[in-house]
Order: sequence, then C-alpha cells, then structure tokens
Amino acid sequence: MSDQALAKIEPADHRVTPMMAQFLEIKAANPDSLLFYRMGDFYELFFEDAEIASQTLGITLTKRGKHLGEDIPMCGVPVHAADDYLQKLIARGHRVAVCEQTEDPAEAKKRGSKSVVRRDVIRLVTPGTLTEERLLDSSANNFLAAMSRLRSGSLSGDAVYGLAWIDMSTGSFQVSETDDQRLAADLAQISPRELILPDNLLQEAEVRQVAEQSGAALSPVPRAFFDSSTATDRLAQYFGVKTLDGFGTFSRSELSAAAGILAYVEKTQLGERPPLDPPTREAGAGRMLIDPATRANLELTRTLGGEKQGSLLATIDRTVTGGGSRLLASRLAGPLVNPEEISRRHDSVEFFLENEMMREALRRTLKGAPDMARALSRIALQRGGPRDILAVAQGMQAARQVIDQIGMAATVPAEIAAARASLEQAPHEFGEELTRAIKEDPPLMKRDGNFVATGYDETLDELRALRDESRKVIAKLQADYSEELGLRSLKIKHNNVLGWFIEAPSAQTEKLTADPGRFIHRQTMAGAMRFTTTELADLESKIASAGERSLAIELEIFDRLAAEIVASGDAIKAAAHGLSILDVSAALAKLAQEDAYVRPVVDDTRAFDISGGRHPVVEQALKAAGGDSFVANDAHLGPEGDDKTGRIWLITGPNMAGKSTFLRQNALIAVLAQMGAFVPAASAHIGVVDRLFSRVGAADDLARGRSTFMVEMVETAAILNQAGDRSLVILDEIGRGTATFDGLSIAWATIEHLHEVNRSRALFATHYHELTALSAKLDRLSNATVQVKEWNGEVVFLHEIVPGAADRSYGIQVAKLAGLPASVVQRSQQVLSQLEEQDRRSPAEALIDELPLFAAIPTPAPSTARTESEPDPLTEALEDLDPDDMTPREALEALYRLKSLQK
Ligand code: ATP
Repeated sequence: MSDQALAKIEPADHRVTPMMAQFLEIKAANPDSLLFYRMGDFYELFFEDAEIASQTLGITLTKRGKHLGEDIPMCGVPVHAADDYLQKLIARGHRVAVCEQTEDPAEAKKRGSKSVVRRDVIRLVTPGTLTEERLLDSSANNFLAAMSRLRSGSLSGDAVYGLAWIDMSTGSFQVSETDDQRLAADLAQISPRELILPDNLLQEAEVRQVAEQSGAALSPVPRAFFDSSTATDRLAQYFGVKTLDGFGTFSRSELSAAAGILAYVEKTQLGERPPLDPPTREAGAGRMLIDPATRANLELTRTLGGEKQGSLLATIDRTVTGGGSRLLASRLAGPLVNPEEISRRHDSVEFFLENEMMREALRRTLKGAPDMARALSRIALQRGGPRDILAVAQGMQAARQVIDQIGMAATVPAEIAAARASLEQAPHEFGEELTRAIKEDPPLMKRDGNFVATGYDETLDELRALRDESRKVIAKLQADYSEELGLRSLKIKHNNVLGWFIEAPSAQTEKLTADPGRFIHRQTMAGAMRFTTTELADLESKIASAGERSLAIELEIFDRLAAEIVASGDAIKAAAHGLSILDVSAALAKLAQEDAYVRPVVDDTRAFDISGGRHPVVEQALKAAGGDSFVANDAHLGPEGDDKTGRIWLITGPNMAGKSTFLRQNALIAVLAQMGAFVPAASAHIGVVDRLFSRVGAADDLARGRSTFMVEMVETAAILNQAGDRSLVILDEIGRGTATFDGLSIAWATIEHLHEVNRSRALFATHYHELTALSAKLDRLSNATVQVKEWNGEVVFLHEIVPGAADRSYGIQVAKLAGLPASVVQRSQQVLSQLEEQDRRSPAEALIDELPLFAAIPTPAPSTARTESEPDPLTEALEDLDPDDMTPREALEALYRLKSLQK
C-alpha cells in the first residue's frame, strides 16, 4: 500500500475495512479522476466522487459503513449501463478511472476469508481519449491537443508554442508551431475536446485565458512530459523507428508537444498504444487565420448560442458518412491560403457536379459504408467487437464498389485520382475474407460468441452441429418422457441458474416423485416442480462443452482477424480517408447543384468581386420558412486600376435592413471559397484572404469580467493591430455600446486607421451617418446603403445594397414594428425632431473638413523619449520619497513640492 494511503488510514481508526483500504490506495494513485470501483454488477463511487457523480448523474446518494467515524457517501451505476453514465460525466469535463476486479473472487477467498479481491485501474477515460462509438459524435472529430512553450525557440527570443493534436478514434496526428499572436486562433481551429499543457504554464493568467477560451477540458500535467531533449527518442520509440527523418522535420517546440501528447496517451491507456499515424506538420501559415472571436461571430461550426443547427457547417453539410462529415468540419475550420491547393479541391467538386449520375451512385454506396477509421482504432486498442470487424469488411466492400463507380470516368481530377489510388491499395482479398468470416448481424461483444459465419471454419461448424443436434435430442427426450409418464404438460426448459431441467405442474408430479432414483428433484416453485435425470445431465454437459469449445474457436478467429486488421492498419486508414474525400467532394457538389452555388476564382491578387452574393444560412432559413426569397447583393472591395490596396465599403441603412447579413455573407463566401467549396453567388473572384476578422454583434463576456463595450474594444484592438493588406475585415457598428460622441469618434478613427494603416479590404456597417462624409477625404472608401421604401409612414425593407448613404435610421419605425407602446413612439418622434433641428445648426460632418487625416495627427512623444543625460526632476523627486517613512504633514508638503515641479 502506498504511504499516502496508509497515512490517510492509520492515524485515527483501526476499523478501516480491507476493502476501504484498497479503495483509498487506488484513489490516492488517481486523485484527479472519479474512481469507478467495481463491486459485482456495479461500479461504486465513494466520498467526494460519489457526491459529484450523484449530482451530475441525478442518481441517489447513499451511505456505506463509516470511515474515521464518519459516514461514507456512496453511489453506484450498473456495469451494463456504465457507458451512458460515463458519457454524461465526460461531457461535463470529468475524468474517470475505471477500476476492475483482476481476479476471481474464489481466488481471493483461498487467501483467507477476509481477503479482498484484487483490483486495478484498467483505463482512464478522459474527454480527449474516447474511442467508443456511443460516447462519440460521429460527425465531429474528438481532438486531444497538447501545447508546449519554448522561450528559446526563436532567434528573437520571443516565445514559440508547439501544438500537437490527435484523434484517438481515427489515429490522426498533427503538429504545428505558433506564436503569441496566432495561438488563440490556432487552438480555435483545432477546437480540442481536451487540452494538456505543463502545469506551470497553466498558472500564467494569459495562457490560462487562451486555454480556457478554446473550450477544451484542461488537463495540466508535469513539465517532464514535454521535455524536448528526450522528445525525439520518445517519438521514435512509439513508432518503432530509429530516426524521425522519414516523417519530415520538426521544430523543437513541435517535438516537445508531440512527446507530451504521447506521454499522456500512454498514461491514460495504461500501456496500450493506440495506432497513431506518424505526425504530420501543419504549417499554421498555410491556413486562413480566423481568431476565436471571429469564428464565434460568424457561427462557422456552432451558433452563438452553442447549437450546431443554424451554423454554417450544418447548413452546408450534405455528407453521408461520419468520416466525410468530420473532414468537412476540419476543412471549414481551416480554410486554405494556397490558390493551387484550393483550386484542386474546386476541381473535385466540379467533377461531381458534372457527373451527377456517378455522384448519386457513389453517395448511395457511401451511405451504407460504416465508419472504418473508428472501428480500426477500437480494434487496435483491444476495445473492438465483432461489429468493428464487420465495419472494416463492409467499408472495404464499399471501397471496391466506389473504385468501379469512379472508374467509369475518362479523366478524373488529381484529388479524386489520389483518393481512388488509396482505395485500390486497400487489402481487398483480406476484406473478402472478413466478409466471409463475420455474420451479418453479429452481437456487440465478442464474449457472447456466435458471430463467426457458417462455412468459415469447419471445426466450428461441427461443434455447432453437435450443439444443434443435442437440442434436437432434448426435444425428443421431452416427447419420450411426456409419453411415458402420460404428462402432456411436461416440459424440458433451460435457465442460467439450473441449466436444463424437467418441469411439470405440481399437481401432476406423482409419477416423478415416486421414482427419485431416476427423477432427481431440483426445485419447487409455486405451481410447478423441477427435476433432472442422468440422461439430461449428460446431454447438458455435451451442449455446454460444445458451446465452450466453439466460443474458444470464435475468440481465436477474432484475435487472428483483429491482428491482421491492425497489421494492414495504414492501408485501411488511407482507404477510409479516401472515402471521406470523395464524400466531401460529392456532398459539396450536391450542395452547389441544389442551392445554385458557383465555382469561385481564387488567386493571389487582392480582388474581392462578388456578384449576386447570398448568405448561405439566412437563405436556407428563408427557403425553409417558405416566405420571401433572399435578395442577392454585390460586393466589390478589390483595388481599382493599378492600385494594390483593397477598398472599404461604409454601409449605412435602417435597422433590420440587412446590413449585418450582408457583412457576414461576404466573410462566409470567402471562407467557403478557400475551404474548397463553391459559393452562394452568381460569380466570385477572391484574392486569397490570409486573415479574416469580424466584429459582428456584441456579447457580454461577464464570466471573464468584461462588459459589452469592453469586449467590443478588445476585439477591435485585435483587428487594428493585426489586419494587413491581404486581410478581410468585417466591422459591424463599432462604438455602439458607449455615449454617442465617444462611439462616433472611435468609429471615425477606426475607419481612418483601416484605410491608412491596415489597408485591408473591409466592410463597415454603422448607424453614425456622419461618417459617410469621410468618403470625400478617403479615396478608397465608398458609401453603400440598404434600400428601403416608405409607404404610408411604414418602412418596407428591400434588402438591396446600393451606392450612396442613408439619410436616416428609421429606428423609431422599427421600434413601432416591434410593438413599443404608441405613446413612447410618439414621444420619440418629438425628441428626434428637436435633436435633428439642433444638429442642423452645427452638424458633426462639418468637422470632417476641419480635422486633419489620421496619419497627419502627430503621435504624442513616448515618455521614454527623454534621454538619460536629462533626468526628469519630477521623477527624481518622486524616487526620493518613501511614503512608509513620512508623517501626514510631511506627505502633504511633499505633494506641494511635486506640484511645483510640474511644468
Ligand atoms: P440592425 O441594424 O438592426 O442590426 P441589420 O441592418 O443589421 O439590422 P440584419 O440583421 O442583417 O439587419 O437583417 C434583418 C433581417 O432581414 C434578417 O434576419 C433577414 O431575415 C432579413 N434579411 C436580411 N438581408 C436579407 C436579404 N438580402 N434578403 C432577404 N432577407 C434579408
């Protein structure tokens, strides 16, 4: 027993039961996990674990005995339903250590009546290390990520971060390097379920904030997990290679993160090694940078309310397989920036758009194909069952069909050809053997047997025949006894306690009880009696041994096939990936056809020419509601003439006119184009967007202690500090959350900064009509407005974006539409007329001519400008003061002295 556990038990009480002592010892070794302690048919939880579990799971909290004089809180979950409970606990971010009995209770008894059955933790279940189908969402990746930091990683001495992320359910393994600026965006792109990081790093407030923002369950681990000096060896050892050269080159920070993740995997899987792909390097710079705020604002994979429904992903997802859906999500999370790579993906979509019959046939085949990648991982982790083998078999069958289906095309684009090649290289003969080996509808667990198909193994078939034969003999025996004894109601039955037995109604058992030498009494029930005979017992043991032997053969077959599957793991995984690529391309083509999306032109220019663009999500929602159809709009933000800098559109217009929708739709079109999809527009030409920034709508972030306005300003600051001339910036109503003049001034300065410093392509929506006058000064700023018609004093929204500026906001009309009391509407109109009258006398626009342009405003000299030779007398005098050593009078005098030094 560990010293720690002993220390807990020894001091006060000698009445700690041996079982409790064992529990405490195992719990002490797994302090961060809830301990599922196996007792018979239940997993029991004790002490604080029991309290947490009973609250989270809504199960009754009971007591079991006492510990150190106090009741022991306890609750339990039945083993057969444990998966459901595990799922709930994991979803709430808990970790669970599953502790099983590792010996037969009979063995324990042999050591003495008081000895406890040996138990051990056989697995640590954490959010990022799940593989069970029931615990996973088939359409989402389940990433476990690791993050390390090296201070000495770059020449400049700035910190670099290594990121590594794996999906244990499919084996994917990626690494990348990043810096302070990109870290949050890169983590948001990965969107891990669980993030491990060195414990000392998590104590730093800034790192902690970024880590928490990723939404992952955080798992701090000792720093040693990330030791970069031994990282190479640890990786080489895991993959059984002498050197990592064959996998590519990795930076020190990447190696450290990769080593950290492997150390954690080995810890949680208790030595079992999941079949991971060798790590591949994902250049962060190869993806469009989308920071967490932008990602959330644009509702790419989830809505602001956290729902999948209503997100861009849910709107465009037409995939038919789990693997395809996961690939689509990861492409959407990380749009590309290399025009050739993007174009390769567009080629695939176009191919399936042109070959509709082939596409539909392919989709039918894929629909029936199971999740090969996840089945493979479970098999390799010794958690697989017969259905997983069947999944591999059926996946391979689908792969063969798909090869034929695509084979019909004369020429295929590069990406499809590569996918087809990976399907061709799958071990098809072995796949056929698997199909022959496993029954069509096998049980979930291999221990239940009866999953190997008839005709696959001769000995097994013989044993099964014997078993079936014996059953026939039993039927005959029943008929014989019944005739001999003249008892038509006599039956031979089976249950798990007694095995086979003869049953007759109590009132008619005279003849049986009269011959106890032959009919041996077993049990008396309410209305019946049960007996056995030597004949029946013989038959029973024959059946049982045939059953045992056939189960042993089935398990042997299972292990052999599982080992071969693992041996061909790489080829099977590649085929599964090939199927996912085809699924995604066909699904995007289907979307393009159904919703009239077009192929965008994406190149290295600064163009942004969208004609007839639509908002994919709003359009679909309007369609589903069967009401108005979506009004398409253009956006032209590219440079004019030889200029290389993008333009800014300043959009004014009434409330509810569609400004936000227009802003978002253009950002979404850029994301779709660069992830390799077609776009909802009549035509689109986009010069690659390297960073996308969006500030749309404000949300309080009270949990992190920020008000609406603070959130808005933090996000705006991030944009102004980071956006460049290849970025696309979407800003909606900057400065709304504060006093009018403060807000107007901030919006004003922001536009000037974007125009003069960032030089990005930008859309800026505002209710400050004063800003439209800026277009006279800023040559790349154009005004646009959303058209409305006024009819009988009511506004009619046309949702059409046209050049020009809005004259007013129609806020009061919209408020009226929303049902504000008539008296309030009337009073607002009065106040508005007064305010407008005042403004006419001294309009804010007039300032435009008076104020110098942003760049022309002299920047105040930084305080460090003073040279060392000219010390500042005020600072010097301050330094001489020691407030701890002053009387109040002296303090006051010092204050006067300081004031006099001020110039
Ligand atoms: P506010 O200034 O009040 O925030 P807004 O101008 O940003 O308003 P949106 O929120 O973009 O307006 O749009 C309001 C509603 O108008 C949307 O929910 C949508 O139903 C509808 N709408 C917007 N644009 C269009 C369009 N192009 N075609 C059809 N309906 C549209």
